[in-house]
Amino acid sequence: MNQATPHESNGKIFAPDFLNHPLFLNAAQGLDEAAQLMNIDSNIINRLKVPRKCISVAVPVRMDDRSVKVYMGYRVQYNATLGPYKGGVRYHQNVDLGEVAGLAALMTFKNSVLGLPYGGAKGGITIDPRVLSRTEKQNLTRRYTSEIAPFIGPTKDIPAPDVGTDAQTMAWMMDTYSQEQGGFTQPGVVTGKPVEIGGTLGRVGATGLGVIFTTERAFETQGRKISGSSIAIQGFGNVGSHAALCAFERGAKVIAVSDVDGGIFNGDGLNIPQLKLHFETQKTLKGFPGAKEITNEELLFLPVDALLPCALDGVIDEKNAHNIKAKIIVEGANGPVTINATKILHRMGVFVAPDIIANGGGVIVSYFEWVQDIMSFFWEEDDINDKLKSIIIKAFDTTYKTAHEKKVDMRSAAMGVAIKRLEKAMLLRGLYPR
Ligand code: NAD
Repeated sequence: MNQATPHESNGKIFAPDFLNHPLFLNAAQGLDEAAQLMNIDSNIINRLKVPRKCISVAVPVRMDDRSVKVYMGYRVQYNATLGPYKGGVRYHQNVDLGEVAGLAALMTFKNSVLGLPYGGAKGGITIDPRVLSRTEKQNLTRRYTSEIAPFIGPTKDIPAPDVGTDAQTMAWMMDTYSQEQGGFTQPGVVTGKPVEIGGTLGRVGATGLGVIFTTERAFETQGRKISGSSIAIQGFGNVGSHAALCAFERGAKVIAVSDVDGGIFNGDGLNIPQLKLHFETQKTLKGFPGAKEITNEELLFLPVDALLPCALDGVIDEKNAHNIKAKIIVEGANGPVTINATKILHRMGVFVAPDIIANGGGVIVSYFEWVQDIMSFFWEEDDINDKLKSIIIKAFDTTYKTAHEKKVDMRSAAMGVAIKRLEKAMLLRGLYPR
């Protein structure tokens, strides 16, 4: 197995076991490739290959039956060169320190390529939140927040929702942190809060909208328009359903969508507002008038202009990449196309817009929430969407130019841009102490 870190000490390679997590090794592979592509200083790469701080906390929780259960929680602060740490908090039974470290590394690269004034972090608790009552989830969240409170804050580290957490979780985190600061309200400590307590307009649909801004730009690079194009979308959750609606509003024909139970297809295009209503009332995509059922696999290989995988990671890999007929793939989910599949698709002439740009809408609008909280001055939704567009297009265009200059795929170019920006800032700041 690859060694996750390059450090030698007494002739031995130093690599803490938890850094052998596949997610972390994947991030380390991206880092190595970017280093080669952009000729990055090896001292900088060595520093970027290990997390700066890993916080591991026990979280005892009073359960409804008065028993006490203890869960493990983490916060990994990966790199803070570009600004305060920023990244979500995940509640999932598979969470461990290695996974959180890998996700924190990816947040560092994502914030860098998007040009946000943030470092990267991630947090999590090893728990299936579906087994908790609301009170138990609140107790868990408040104790976890209290344990990591010395390390977070509006100028230090700003958590946000991720898998298994939501706006309510952020409200409890914000309240706990504020109570421990003498009761003074500190809205800027977390983002993704409800609007009533300092959240921002536009946050809910931001990732899906960003996916469509990216799709529009990808079409433009090929001298085409989104309007009139055919699009297939895997996943009809937060990202997929908002992306579908935004594509529909721009005149695209969304001919297929799917979720965990399978997909539906209509070659003339699905009426997405009506489909959303159908899904809200029926809790399934199936049975939508005028559509026929297809499998998730069939959806991936449809001859469409653009394919938007917005559900799971790893759905397009080196085994099935050859079957792709779409000309453009935009990664709404995190990592739906593997690194090796991206290279195959690049050779096939398929344009893959990578996740760290395409699904950046969530963290970009989180950034706007934090700015609004600090200023105590709140913006209109149109302003937020316009600013989101300009940040995502700028990141896309910089990456596209690098991809052309270096003759590589967009994923490699995005990592290159991210690491180059970090290298410049790290060299300017220098190493403390000298
Ligand atoms: P979600 O839970 O709201 O929706 C997930 C969707 O995927 C659902 O429609 C679900 O039915 C579907 N799905 C689950 N298993 C599937 C399977 N085996 N085959 C096909 N579909 C399946 O989640 P979301 O917030 O929309 O996130 C989707 C992806 O986007 C994740 O990878 C997430 O990490 C990533 N992402 C989300 C955001 C955000 O702001 N929500 C931001 C960045 C990245």
